[in-house]
Amino acid sequence: MQHCQEFYINGQWVAPLEGRPFDVINPSNEEVAETISLGGKADTDAAVAAAKAAFASWRLSPMSERMDLLETILGIYKRRAADMAEAISIEMGAPIDMAKVQQASAGSGHLQAFINALRVFKFEGPLREDTPDTYLIKEPIGVCALITPWNWPMNQITLKVIPALATGCTMILKPSEQSPLSGLLFSEIMHEAGVPAGVYNMVNGDGPGVGSQLSAHPDVDMVSFTGSTRAGKAITIAGAETIKRVTLELGGKGANIVFADASDNAVANGIKRCFNNTGQSCNAPTRMLVERSRYNQAVEEAKAAAEATLVSTAAEVGNHIGPLVSELQFNKVQDLIQKGIDEGARLVTGGLGRPEGLNRGYYVRPTVFADCHNDMQVMREEIFGPVLSMMPFDTEEEAIRIANDTDYGLTNYVQTTDPEKARRVARELRTGMVDMNGRARASGSPFGGMKQSGNGREGGEWGIDEFLEVRAIGGWPV
Ligand code: NAD
Repeated sequence: MQHCQEFYINGQWVAPLEGRPFDVINPSNEEVAETISLGGKADTDAAVAAAKAAFASWRLSPMSERMDLLETILGIYKRRAADMAEAISIEMGAPIDMAKVQQASAGSGHLQAFINALRVFKFEGPLREDTPDTYLIKEPIGVCALITPWNWPMNQITLKVIPALATGCTMILKPSEQSPLSGLLFSEIMHEAGVPAGVYNMVNGDGPGVGSQLSAHPDVDMVSFTGSTRAGKAITIAGAETIKRVTLELGGKGANIVFADASDNAVANGIKRCFNNTGQSCNAPTRMLVERSRYNQAVEEAKAAAEATLVSTAAEVGNHIGPLVSELQFNKVQDLIQKGIDEGARLVTGGLGRPEGLNRGYYVRPTVFADCHNDMQVMREEIFGPVLSMMPFDTEEEAIRIANDTDYGLTNYVQTTDPEKARRVARELRTGMVDMNGRARASGSPFGGMKQSGNGREGGEWGIDEFLEVRAIGGWPV
């Protein structure tokens, strides 16, 4: 891949000032796919300086210019969608069909959704009809550091870069060092689209290096972060010194409440959702709570669905799941499966080790634990692998209490054919999102969490507002 060892700063590909080589490992075969450079303080400073200089003019650019630019980016992104899917598949192990249909297309989907949202977004106007001389103007917050994870790389990058660009902010993107190839390709797209020099910059680096430098940098006005709760806390602390806006999209431990009256395929769909992207989604429904009268049957259905889940290499076409992203994640998931066994959860299927026939690559056996208690580690920690933990409940109140008894608050799921119960339960769940009966939320819905799942909302008008300051002006001439 071109420019692998370079950064994109001030409208050009540049050699690192303090680069260190870093191998990107293909998780399907544990071989080195590419070697990139991780930047240091001098690289971070150069990118921030370019973004700061460009802000003076980009903040004043007409909206029509920005909208044209977004359309151009979308056109190029669509043209390069196959390359994008391939890059994602190699760097983080998404099976190629899934990389095309879900991973790469998430980027074009968000681009289009933001274009639609911007067409009706109001950047200024009177406070209310009865207060014509009190006028509100929303303006870009300034220089933004965008720090993203490896699990849905283009989903996260476009959810940050596009609203930042559209609102008149300038930015430094630091993609995950585990999945930098898609970020490099995205920077090629931005260059070809003609984004003005300094408006968009990209530096590869790790958390302790470029990530921490951006979070503490005095010339960065905002950090938009998606990743682990651990890193989210570190970034909040680093940003506090200069009172940055820090928006956080963090981990989750979603409950999927299956009532006795749920549709026949509710459990199988729950497994599919939990194992999608090899279980590496912040919003995965990883705790399945089943009403007792249906519980034994549900465990059998979950077992069958898990055993029907195929595992194979990312390059192979088909609807299997791929490997985990890295050796580190593989070891973490193995440890948590062992913890589940040690704590007395009933291992229904799967377990330790790789699936049969897969001896190289970070493959995990699709695993189901039953008879869990909500204080077990497999019910409390984000496992980030194809592992489902099940437990029974007796009443609606108990299901809600268990679902809410977690440090996280990202997405919960409800399966019932009773509309009254669905509405009642959705109102009680302490999460930023509730998905019911397998129905997706419409594009442009706010995505984000409560509690230790973070404080941000991405997508649609909420995702645009995150990058804006609001000025209230009294005595506005009318
Ligand atoms: P991670 O926190 O290890 O890394 C995420 C990014 O932060 C990377 O770019 C990394 O280099 C950087 N980073 C790490 N430590 C840092 C520090 N101290 N300061 C600054 N930057 C730092 O997370 P990950 O393993 O890449 O991603 C998986 C996590 O992301 C999971 O917890 C998942 O739930 C979460 N996630 C959340 C959402 C959401 O919208 N809520 C979406 C996707 C992923």
